[in-house]
Amino acid sequence: MSQQLQHDVLVIGSGAAGLSLALNLPSHLRIAVLSKGDLANGSTFWAQGGVAAVLDDTDTVQSHVEDTLNAGGGLCHEDAVRFTVEHSREAIQWLIDQGVPFTRDEHASVDDGGFEFHLTREGGHSHRRIIHAADATGAAIFKTLLDQARQRPNIELLEQRVAVDLITERRLGLDGERCLGAYVLNRASGEVDTFGARFTVLATGGAAKVYLYTSNPDGACGDGIAMAWRAGCRVANLEFNQFHPTCLYHPQAKSFLITEALRGEGGLLRLPNGERFMERFDPRAELGPRDIVARAIDHEMKRLGVDCVYLDISHKPAEFVKSHFPTVYERCLTFGIDITRQPIPVVPAAHYTCGGVMIDQDGRTDVPGLYAIGETSFTGLHGANRMASNSLLECFVYGRSAAADIVAQLDQVEMPRALPCWDASQVTDSDEDVIIAHNWDELRRFMWDYVGIVRTSKRLQRAEHRVRLLLDEIDEFYSNYKVSRDLIELRNLAQVAELMIHSAMQRKESRGLHYTLDYPGMLPEALDTILQPPTFSD
Ligand SMILES: Cc1cc2nc3c(=O)[nH]c(=O)nc-3n(C[C@H](O)[C@H](O)[C@H](O)COP(=O)(O)OP(=O)(O)OC[C@H]3O[C@@H](n4cnc5c(N)ncnc54)[C@H](O)[C@@H]3O)c2cc1C
Repeated sequence: MSQQLQHDVLVIGSGAAGLSLALNLPSHLRIAVLSKGDLANGSTFWAQGGVAAVLDDTDTVQSHVEDTLNAGGGLCHEDAVRFTVEHSREAIQWLIDQGVPFTRDEHASVDDGGFEFHLTREGGHSHRRIIHAADATGAAIFKTLLDQARQRPNIELLEQRVAVDLITERRLGLDGERCLGAYVLNRASGEVDTFGARFTVLATGGAAKVYLYTSNPDGACGDGIAMAWRAGCRVANLEFNQFHPTCLYHPQAKSFLITEALRGEGGLLRLPNGERFMERFDPRAELGPRDIVARAIDHEMKRLGVDCVYLDISHKPAEFVKSHFPTVYERCLTFGIDITRQPIPVVPAAHYTCGGVMIDQDGRTDVPGLYAIGETSFTGLHGANRMASNSLLECFVYGRSAAADIVAQLDQVEMPRALPCWDASQVTDSDEDVIIAHNWDELRRFMWDYVGIVRTSKRLQRAEHRVRLLLDEIDEFYSNYKVSRDLIELRNLAQVAELMIHSAMQRKESRGLHYTLDYPGMLPEALDTILQPPTFSD
């Protein structure tokens, strides 16, 4: 039997964004936080580097703002950048107050007013401003926030619950546009439950799984973007997908990044025949910026029709390699690759979705009662290229501002009345799951080949044609068979893929992470790509 549940706030997603929003709400509210797998299954757990913030007295808001604007290829919204950076210190203080064990600075003279935590520097930042917990910052933040949430009796943490679609007044044929909750598949019971809520928050993470190779965990399927789009929200700048240049290429190795520090310490990129190639693309060779190195690797792989290139540090003394890169050394060894003697097979991998559901500074989407925060949202902070460690910061700043906005509206919003149950009367169990698996593979491969690091108008047209066929097939499947996590994710991925393709087709220039051979130059005016969902009468 499916269930009818009611909460003041329904938070879909248990990563940095969802947990920080839930913890910033007052304890008299009934809150549900959902995760479609176990609670740790988002990207937050895997974040390594840290969180960017203005924390040191020698650093300034202006400097962090300027660095972010420079990285963003002219497309950042300066008000969003300023808002995020101005709230960075208090967001970090809140994390410290929650108990996040950030790495301390052994040399700080706290008595003289020095900052007690260690700050590191990353690409694009002109100051040391990345606060971190060794090289596993995301895990430290996640565990601390989860512990805090577990101590709050008003927060229900629900695992293995996959939101299928949002419930809106429009969907129910009522007057008004408000979001009233969501239909959610309970993977244990196999039933789709009805969650009614005064406020609903999408904190569902990014969509990097749309590509064949990704650094993201399995759930990064753009569910929130697709659900918001179907509910009537605008989305923006979905053509900007950030690729990390070097992800381990091995059939059994899922999503393992080879740190950029390996190139920093002398690692060389080579073709399968051993030849170096980076000097042909940038005078800084292997030390060029992320997007240039990723583009060069992609170019060589396509030119030669090879599956990967190689990152070689075997010319350095074995002890040096082992002591500087213990995690990479151990991990590669488990796949039979001894990096002190052999080059590492690598491919670029989709890493971060810069675009998403359009929101204002309070996390509000176009649909009343619906918020979007974290990687699923588009705030204008990242522009055409995200600067390292700004993304976790965005989760905390907007998690807090959205919570404050919900609190400000509590008196005006009532609990929705009983909502109709999910109708599963017309569907049967699928005996053709092979179709889902096949479509998943096809989608991720053509997105990689045609809508990847280097694009052309022709490739985008091919991708558009194929995604349309897939969407028709998926719609038919969706209408006839019971929903499963795989089917829900495939449907959402295909929807987001189409939005990415349309966004890329609209941009007749190369800017930031969007690079097309047909329009290699940058237009004088920087404009967002905003897609408007069709209304039901269209
Ligand atoms: C390997 C790696 C390293 C990174 N390093 C850094 C770094 O150092 N600094 C930095 O700032 N950023 C970093 N990032 C990016 C950053 O980690 C993410 O942008 C951020 O964690 C996103 O947080 P989130 O809360 O928006 O989503 P996530 O943490 O991805 O959480 C998404 C949540 O939504 C749930 N969900 C999704 N769909 C549904 C659905 N349909 N129903 C129910 N639940 C659903 C998931 O189960 C999950 O709980 C890194 C990313 C990766 C992959």
